[in-house]
Amino acid sequence: MHFLTWGKKRESYYHLQLEKTHMKQKVEYYVHNLNSSDISSCVKVLRSLFLSTGNEVEKFEKAFAHYLSMNYVVGTTSCTDSLFLCLKGLGVKKDDEVITSPLSFVASAHSIVRCGAKPVFVDVEESTANIDVSKIESKITKNTKVLVVVHMNGYMCDMKRIHTIAKKHKLKVIEDAAHCVEGMRDGVRPGHLSDAACFSFYAVKNITSAEGGAVATNSKKLYEWLMKARQHGMSKNAINRYKKFDHYDVDILGYKANMNNVQASLLLGQLERIEKLHRKKEKIARKYDEAFENNPNISLFINKKNMKHARHLYAVKVDSKKRDYVLSYLQSHDIGIAVHFKPIHMLTYYRQKYGYKRGDFPIAEKVGSSVISLPFYPKLRNDQTTYVISTLVKALN
Ligand SMILES: *Cc1c(COP(=O)(O)O)cnc(C)c1O
Repeated sequence: MHFLTWGKKRESYYHLQLEKTHMKQKVEYYVHNLNSSDISSCVKVLRSLFLSTGNEVEKFEKAFAHYLSMNYVVGTTSCTDSLFLCLKGLGVKKDDEVITSPLSFVASAHSIVRCGAKPVFVDVEESTANIDVSKIESKITKNTKVLVVVHMNGYMCDMKRIHTIAKKHKLKVIEDAAHCVEGMRDGVRPGHLSDAACFSFYAVKNITSAEGGAVATNSKKLYEWLMKARQHGMSKNAINRYKKFDHYDVDILGYKANMNNVQASLLLGQLERIEKLHRKKEKIARKYDEAFENNPNISLFINKKNMKHARHLYAVKVDSKKRDYVLSYLQSHDIGIAVHFKPIHMLTYYRQKYGYKRGDFPIAEKVGSSVISLPFYPKLRNDQTTYVISTLVKALN
């Protein structure tokens, strides 16, 4: 009995001590926004007849196209497969060259390699982490077919300038908009000027179905190809045959990347709330910005006035010699962190296949070795943001 009391007291004493330096609970790197109505919509689909591609997917495609002000959306299984299908649909084949950014998730380059084409990297700008548009033209050859640009962190690339170059050299443009559902720059949104924009609904993206993706395009031809190619090239899918049986044919070597009704049911509600969720992230970003703006140990990416930042990631740059120490400091203080990204040309596969080495894309390497992505999601509470700020500042002192 005595012991128990003593034990309890000691426990609560430790608890107090813990609170002084740590939050009671870990500040997770990401927490999704699925609510009870999203879960009910999903359960409704699970209790229904059609689990795979059907009415829910069609509803989501229409709603997403409307949200983006685009003609067509095709629901897929991932942004990776969306990029790959678009490259295939635009005719990219063996020995073609595709220009892209070395500072992205490996998916943007992998999808090019999967087509048998060569990813040609153009270094990034330090101020945005986006492809340096002024360096694109020097990398264009007679084999260049497509530009794949990435809107890093949600900060849109200068699509008007990119399209001036693309037009001049008759190149297609695909946007890796995995970070940029809500973005806009100079009145232009993802997909508006390009052949296609590809989106991700992976677990930590702004809206999520655990896994999932989409392509937005204004090209009827590409849309029709994608609708077929995402499902083996079949001219009719199961829901068409259910409504009225008809034999299907296959006239191309298609793939398997169709979004299903379970995924779509989770996305529809989030899409309705997306601007509200974005406003919450905007507020958190402002709080981080104000806290770090005048800190000599922290530098921020720029955010111009003519932009609607999609606010996917909140990344800061610190001295690259201290970066990994800061990562472990934050993690040991119960703060989830991530790095976006280790440059693609520094990954073993790309080094071995193409002989890349340190120094080939110095700005991407510099940014890649100094960035830290902080916890950033609508459910992040004010006290948690304050704790992240004070812990990061302490780690750098
Ligand atoms: C997440 C991400 C992808 C891949 O998305 P998936 O849906 O997981 O395939 C591609 N590009 C970038 C920039 C990403 O952040």
